[in-house]
Amino acid sequence: MNIETKKERVYEAADYQDGAVYSTQVCIIGSGCGGATLAKRLTDFGVNVIVLEQGSYIPATKMDQRDLNMMGKLYGERGMGTASDQSTQVLHGNNVGGASVHYWADSYRTPQDKLDSWQQDYGMQGHDMSDLAPAFDDIEKSLNIHQAPDHLFNNLNNKFRSACKSLSWHGHRVPQARKHCASSGHCMQGCLYDAKQSQMVTHIPTAIKQGARVFANAKAGKLVSQGGTVKQVRVDIMDSVRNRASGKTMTISADVVVVASGGFSSSYYLMQQGMKKQLPALGKYFSMNPSAMVHSLFDEDIIQWRNIPAAWGIDEYRQRRYQQGQYSEGGYLLMPSQLQPAMLAGVLPGIGKQHQDWMKNAPKIGGTISWLDDIESELGEIRIKNNGAREVYYPYGELTQKVLKDSLVKQVALNFEMGAKKVMVAGAQGIELNSIDEMKKLDDLMMTSAGLYLAAPHPGGGCRMGQDPKTSVVGFDHRVHGWNNLFVADSSVFPSSSSLDPSLTIMAFSYIAADRIMEALNGGY
Ligand SMILES: Cc1cc2nc3c(=O)[nH]c(=O)nc-3n(C[C@H](O)[C@H](O)[C@H](O)COP(=O)(O)OP(=O)(O)OC[C@H]3O[C@@H](n4cnc5c(N)ncnc54)[C@H](O)[C@@H]3O)c2cc1C
Repeated sequence: MNIETKKERVYEAADYQDGAVYSTQVCIIGSGCGGATLAKRLTDFGVNVIVLEQGSYIPATKMDQRDLNMMGKLYGERGMGTASDQSTQVLHGNNVGGASVHYWADSYRTPQDKLDSWQQDYGMQGHDMSDLAPAFDDIEKSLNIHQAPDHLFNNLNNKFRSACKSLSWHGHRVPQARKHCASSGHCMQGCLYDAKQSQMVTHIPTAIKQGARVFANAKAGKLVSQGGTVKQVRVDIMDSVRNRASGKTMTISADVVVVASGGFSSSYYLMQQGMKKQLPALGKYFSMNPSAMVHSLFDEDIIQWRNIPAAWGIDEYRQRRYQQGQYSEGGYLLMPSQLQPAMLAGVLPGIGKQHQDWMKNAPKIGGTISWLDDIESELGEIRIKNNGAREVYYPYGELTQKVLKDSLVKQVALNFEMGAKKVMVAGAQGIELNSIDEMKKLDDLMMTSAGLYLAAPHPGGGCRMGQDPKTSVVGFDHRVHGWNNLFVADSSVFPSSSSLDPSLTIMAFSYIAADRIMEALNGGY
């Protein structure tokens, strides 16, 4: 198959010839919100682009709405990866479109207070609201982002919204990237109806129409460089069934190379290139919005696995509050949960009778989740182990534990306000409360590994943006310090956690990265 002449579709393993060499202006490693948006934007400007994606191309025709099947097809590490504490589930994409294919599609602009903090505390330049707003406007249009309308509220969302109002907490309709939503509830298994506006159905097809070549099953390996300039990317062609290297390879020659492999992977990829010595901050300042959950049992059917996950969000406690310099409460966003039956069974605590008693009532189970805004002084680190494997280290420091605990106290209160008859904290102890008067039981909660079951769907940092090569990895132009034509465009450049769901921030940052890359292409480097 001649890749130079084939048009308008994603290339897959069977299309490649062993040993082939392809040339392009910009080679982008990763096809998620960061990489796909960058490809779309660069092709808006007429640039020749190749996107490498290690995972497969899984369009709607290859989806089956079965949670375990789709977890294997769409999630990095088949959804089984954990941080080094072994009880934080590390969730990321491994397919064309990256995590956006299984995300919830909540689409927030970066909060102004976060942009202010990035500017004041980290000296961020070129990424303030006036720089980002045109990108937000454009992306919101392309992804049909709009506030969740009433008909997309499921029973759990309605109860969540009512309880938010009766507790007088501040809440909001969650902005959604959807078009003609079929309310199937299978957002985390990939949308069979192409209604969720993932990168696979938005920026990727636009980029392809504009001339980009998107290579699935193509894992970037060694960067071949000369004097601070990357010349080539060596690529392993992946066996799409077994998701491992097939033994066949190809090479991409490019004027510019952009790493957009996601928050769990970009810093690791650069470490694999032996760059840690040159860039000591690589992997550091890693955030992941650790997410604590509670499950709750109602008298009536909730069917949490239908309609959209989060139509209403509670931002009352998004920012941490302090009294006399001591932390008092807050530091997280609250949302209704959405788990399909098999995933629910997998994360529901307890074994034997306790687990069975809950699962017998699966349709009546609801619950909530909190995204914690990572504490700047207690951030994690992406590391490379002696055997070359990646480690996601997260310390769960003292203040982080306090914030997690407070988020659980608020979630328990919220679920009882929603009308739950019983609430269970997601963690190995399976602590159950029968009324809000039993809140003291949370004093027994082990705030250590396994005490809580946590999810980490929003990785950031590891290639922090800044001026000083000792404390950052890329400059404000997204270029890796000390390199002429190597850039990073994804959440790994964030100086700290983005506070809210990050996809729209990642995409807007890619618009800025595209401008800087255009300058490099036009002006030389
Ligand atoms: C269950 C879930 C729900 C979520 N819901 C929301 C939400 O509602 N709103 C929101 O804003 N965010 C949400 N997120 C987070 C959001 O999806 C991610 O932050 C975002 O999609 C990340 O985009 P990215 O481009 O940085 O990385 P990714 O999407 O992870 O893309 C990186 C891609 O690079 C590929 N790659 C890695 N290494 C290589 C290599 N060496 N060669 C080739 N390819 C490589 C990976 O396979 C991957 O496809 C959710 C995440 C999860 C897991």
